Amino acid sequence: MRTLIKNGTVLSTTGAVTADVLVDGETIAAVTAPGVLAEQNVVADTEFDAAGKYVMPGGIDAHTHMEMPFGGTFSADTFETGTRAAAWGGTTTIIDFAVQPKGNSLLSTLDAWHEKADGDCAVDYGFHMIVSDVNDATLKEMESCVAAGVSSFKMFMAYPGVFYSTDGEILRAMTKAADIGGTIAMHAENGIAIDELVAQALAEGRSEPYQHGVTRPPELEGEATSRAITLAKVTGSPLYIVHLSAAQALSAVAEARDEGQNVFAETCPQYLYLSIEDLGKPDFEGAKYVASPPLREKHHQPDLWRGLRTNDLSVVSTDHCPFCFKDQKELGRGDFTKIPNGMPGVEHRIDLLHQGVVAGEISLARWVEACSTTPARMFGLYPRKGVIAPGADADLVIYDPAAEQTISAETHHMNVDYSAYEGMTITGRCETVLSRGSVVVDRGTYHGRAGHGRFLERDLCQYLN
Ligand SMILES: [Zn+2]
Repeated sequence: MRTLIKNGTVLSTTGAVTADVLVDGETIAAVTAPGVLAEQNVVADTEFDAAGKYVMPGGIDAHTHMEMPFGGTFSADTFETGTRAAAWGGTTTIIDFAVQPKGNSLLSTLDAWHEKADGDCAVDYGFHMIVSDVNDATLKEMESCVAAGVSSFKMFMAYPGVFYSTDGEILRAMTKAADIGGTIAMHAENGIAIDELVAQALAEGRSEPYQHGVTRPPELEGEATSRAITLAKVTGSPLYIVHLSAAQALSAVAEARDEGQNVFAETCPQYLYLSIEDLGKPDFEGAKYVASPPLREKHHQPDLWRGLRTNDLSVVSTDHCPFCFKDQKELGRGDFTKIPNGMPGVEHRIDLLHQGVVAGEISLARWVEACSTTPARMFGLYPRKGVIAPGADADLVIYDPAAEQTISAETHHMNVDYSAYEGMTITGRCETVLSRGSVVVDRGTYHGRAGHGRFLERDLCQYLN
């Protein structure tokens, strides 16, 4: 089965070139100047004319939470619905977080996540491991995780009593990571201090969603980010800061990178486009925007765009963790601490970052890099993923940069009853999406199937010095 995508503007980290892309089976067979394949009488079973369109490597969302347990409920997208929505938005790989419950082993956790995902995914998927119980046994198991293709471990400086790890526990896990080549991904907010601010707010009767933002100030993200960087330096561990939202945290990352430390960071579209003002929306609507770290004041946004340009922020992921407004977010009416933390986003990452291209914030090359190529390298999937080159998986997006669309819960494919970007009109749209050579989405029609997506055994981070 051969597919030819001809005359497209093929994008990579070095820019754009008009080319034909030939797919044979599940992989890319050739990338040539337009017409060369026709001259050679290469016949394809299916052809797409991509003239005037971009052809880009399929998106990699390195931060999703499908059917994740949180506060007595589960995030609303299953692996089936979440990966379908991802495909609609041009994301052909997700890396989801397996969550170790305290007292369970890492390997039984991994088994449980395989059970949730296997046979259900529309696109390929990998896992990170959330380590919430640091002890001799789990430290030992980190080696087995790496061998099983799970080479990154997330820890939390937030959520005391749930996922929180002490500095000592973080130090132990980082020492192990340094030893085995694993990467520590960090949720960097000072949860101990935040809990005090939360207690003060509740004691003073401040219980509305906006208080979620007030009680998690950006300084406490900056402080935790600096502390994580210091612990990583002491142990020699690579460090990946997840969902960086604050200028203070960005400064800390930039400084560490300038000094040559293996420190990396991602941000998310919600921090580039939304702000703490959204948390203040009336009639409890602010609950739709409760995620951690919280949405920040708008003045952080230009700093984050600059970070994307300078590579101090090298990845854009979504932290997709949808909870329906009705029945789920509503659990926190009258007490913002009971609002499940998380926002939907897996479907719109590529489109929202394309707005950054339209607005002149980032280049086309940077768009592709942040959404696909860098996450592939960061998490050991390159060059199988993240690039359009012979031998790579044929995960491809034909993107119409001129199409207009309005984001709405009425039309999105995520299993959640609201959109954080409701009514936002944007330029650009994924027209056709291929996952390992199979057409998953084409001009408004879904052709994918649950179970097409395969588990990806990942190598180590490919950026380490
Ligand atoms: Zn997350």
